[in-house]
Amino acid sequence: MKIQSIRGMSDLLPEQSATWQYLERVVADVLARYSYREIRFPLLEQTELFKRAVGEVTDIVEKEMYSFDDRNGDSLSLRPEGTAGCVRACTENGLLHNQTQRLWYMGPMFRHERPQKGRLRQFHQIGVEAFGLKGPDIDAELLLLTARLWKTLKIDHAVKLEINSLGTSDDRKRYRAALVEYLTARYEQLDEDSQRRLQSNPMRILDSKNADVQALLHAAPNLADFIDDESRQHFERLCAMLDAADVPFQINPRLVRGLDYYGKTVFEWVTTHLGAQGTVCAGGRYDGLVEQLGGKPCPGVGFAMGIERLVLLLDELGVVPDSIAHQIDVYLMAVGDVEQQGLVLAEKLREQCPRLRIEHHCGGGSVKSQIKKADKSGATIALIMGEDEAASGTIGVKYLREDKAQETVAQSELVSVLTTNLIN
Ligand code: ATP
Ligand code: MG
Repeated sequence: MKIQSIRGMSDLLPEQSATWQYLERVVADVLARYSYREIRFPLLEQTELFKRAVGEVTDIVEKEMYSFDDRNGDSLSLRPEGTAGCVRACTENGLLHNQTQRLWYMGPMFRHERPQKGRLRQFHQIGVEAFGLKGPDIDAELLLLTARLWKTLKIDHAVKLEINSLGTSDDRKRYRAALVEYLTARYEQLDEDSQRRLQSNPMRILDSKNADVQALLHAAPNLADFIDDESRQHFERLCAMLDAADVPFQINPRLVRGLDYYGKTVFEWVTTHLGAQGTVCAGGRYDGLVEQLGGKPCPGVGFAMGIERLVLLLDELGVVPDSIAHQIDVYLMAVGDVEQQGLVLAEKLREQCPRLRIEHHCGGGSVKSQIKKADKSGATIALIMGEDEAASGTIGVKYLREDKAQETVAQSELVSVLTTNLIN
C-alpha cells in the first residue's frame, strides 16, 4: 500500500511554486521599503505558549492544535499562528528592551481544521509585527503597507478593508456580560455552535456564518457603546489617518478575531472572489500580550496573511505576470560520447554568462530525441555538441523559435553569439 500525504497538508508542485515565489518576493520587497526586517523562529514551541497567548478557550487551542509529548515528556505544539512565537523570540533575545521593532516572518502554520478550499491543516502565512509603538500611526502604517501590497500585486480592486475596535479587556468583559444576557434570553434561537460558544467564547458568536444567528444579532448590544474614551480616540485617529491617506475602509462593528490577545484595533482584508474563505489578511493590536508571556509591558500590533488564499486570488484574477514562468534560454545537447565535453562547456557558459539559464542534457540518446527535448524545454537556442564538434572545438547552434538556419561556430565565439541572440 502506498503511503499518502496527511489530509489537509498539500504538496506544492513546481508548476505552482513560481507563483508562490513571485508573491513572496513582492511581499519581501514591499516590507523592505517600509523598513521591516525578517525574523525566523521554530515551528515547535511549548504548548503552554499558545495556551497563554492565543487563549485556552479559543477554537485554536481547544481543538485545532497539533500537540504531543516529546521524548522528555514535554508537551510541544506545532505553531498554529506566528505572533506567540515571535513575541517569545523577541523577549527571550532582548529585542523589546527600550526599543521598537518592525518584523516579518513567513512559513507554515498548523491547525487541525476541516480541510476545504482555502482552508488547510498545514497552511502558510506571512506575518508582520510591530513592537513598542502604541499610537494609531503604526496601525495605519500596517494598513497602508498592505494596501500598497495589494496595489503592487494588482488585486487592490478585489479586496476590502474592514476595521473595528475591541476596546480594553475591561470593556470587553462588560460587553460580554451584556451580550450573554441578550443571547441567553434567546438561547433557543441559537444554533448548536453558538450555544456552545455562549459559555466558552461568546464574542465569537458575532462571527457566526449562520444567517439566523446574524439576524438575531441585529438588535444585540453594540460593542462600540462599551469601549472607553482612549480606545475610541485611538480608533477615531486611525480612521482619520486612513482617510487622509486615501485608504477606503468599512467599520464592521461585529468584527472580532478568534484569538484572545487582541484589543483596540482589529482588521481584516476580505475578498468576495474566494467563496466562504474570503479573509486574506487579518490582524490587530495586542498591547497586553508581551507582558502576558512574561516580558516587560510592550505594545504590539500585527497581522498575518494566508499565502494559499492570496495565490488562489492571484490565479482567479489572472494577475500573475507571464514572465515568472520557468523559462530557459539554452538547451545544450550532447550527442555521442561527449558527455564530459558537454558538461564542461555548459559550466563555462554559466561562468561567462551568469544571466543565461542553461539546461544541460544528461543521459545521452539520439539527436532526434534530444532535439525533441530541447524544443519541449522552451529554450530559444539549442547547442549541439557532437563528436565532430568536440574534436574541432566547435558547436552547432540551432535556433528553435525563429526561421534561421542552423550554424556551426567556434566554441570561442559562442559567448558573443549567445549574447547577440539572447541577452539584448
Ligand atoms: P478564518 O476566519 O479564515 O478561519 P482566522 O481568524 O482563523 O481565519 P487568523 O488566525 O487571523 O485567521 O489567520 C490569518 C490568516 O491566515 C487568515 O486570514 C487566512 O488568510 C489564513 N488562514 C487561517 N487559517 C487558515 C487555514 N486553515 N488554511 C489556510 N489559510 C488560513
Ligand atoms: Mg480560523
